[in-house]
Amino acid sequence: MQVSYLDLPRQFTDPELLRLVGGVLARGQFVLGPEVAAFEAEFAGLCQTRFAVGVNSATDALFLALKSLGIGPGDEVITVANSFIATAGAVAAAGATPKFVDVGPDYNMNPELLEGVITARTRAILPVHLTGNPADMGAIIRVARKYSLVVVEDAAQAVGATLNGQPVGSFGEVGCFSLHPLKNLNVAGDGGVLTTNSPEITQRLVHLRNHGLKNRDEIDFFGYNSRLDTIQAAVASYNLRSLDEVTAKRVHNAGLYDRLLAGPGDEVVIPPRNPNAQQVFHTYVIQVERRQELIAYLSERQIETKIHYPIPIHLQAPCRAMGWQAGCLPETEKQASRILTLPIHQYLTEAQIRYVAATINEFYERQTH
Ligand SMILES: *Cc1c(COP(=O)(O)O)cnc(C)c1O
Repeated sequence: MQVSYLDLPRQFTDPELLRLVGGVLARGQFVLGPEVAAFEAEFAGLCQTRFAVGVNSATDALFLALKSLGIGPGDEVITVANSFIATAGAVAAAGATPKFVDVGPDYNMNPELLEGVITARTRAILPVHLTGNPADMGAIIRVARKYSLVVVEDAAQAVGATLNGQPVGSFGEVGCFSLHPLKNLNVAGDGGVLTTNSPEITQRLVHLRNHGLKNRDEIDFFGYNSRLDTIQAAVASYNLRSLDEVTAKRVHNAGLYDRLLAGPGDEVVIPPRNPNAQQVFHTYVIQVERRQELIAYLSERQIETKIHYPIPIHLQAPCRAMGWQAGCLPETEKQASRILTLPIHQYLTEAQIRYVAATINEFYERQTH
């Protein structure tokens, strides 16, 4: 048996999708066509926000969110170091300085540590809903209000996730989502989308993504070229129809793994569950001992795994140059040496999941049910 991490080609074969893309090709309105506005309306509905703005990636969504909030040189943005590099990269691109706070056992920002890293320069908090599990937004927003900080959510991995019934992307001033092929709601290339309840922020974002243009010829400020392609908007709307199904399958797969892998001892730690959240399992991240050996063992048996992410951002070269070093974020660093991501995609069969779990248990010679 073979278990691949993803099965993308399988997702993009429906004649109905090809017909929708063909329609965009036939009409020729490739930039900011009507499909973009249609997708934005649908996405705002999903997130229960007043507005959504399509852009060309979540990286740009994060960057433009910070820009729209007036964050730039001299400002500090508090985020986590166990995310994809783009989270901190967007802060740096905006000219601001990323400040890292440690995470909790749920892989998310530890709100109890936030007040300790706030300085006179802090302007924003940028939590990440890592793995598709919502960060503790109640506690994060409380700290933000107390210190008059804005909150930008990196929801790139968490489309459709909710906390106490409220969708991610609707808690902070702005939410940022990715439509990258690897994400739960994906397109055939790059794409991203922002959510907000503020008409002012929406207008700034709409101008920022299109050179600052407020009409055909005039700008009030310089902007960027970061639009969601019309073709990708059509693909996003098409895939949005099956998002609930995709999420349900991922949640089902996670439940199966949980049961098959739960056992005594520390060799395998299953992902944390939050009873107040709908987790969407963009990734299924376990913690293991003897990780390198296990990866090789699985790989020899045709099981593909990944590590998200092996090097915490604060230990990357540009952050080391700012003075960050090993020991600064003990929980983040401990997890980075133990985490392993198992395949969880919607096309996996139960037999494949049983095979993965049995192979892991066999490696540790564990007895589980
Ligand atoms: C994927 C990802 C991004 C970047 O998304 P792109 O659309 O590829 O730019 C940012 N943050 C997190 C947490 C991600 O997983």
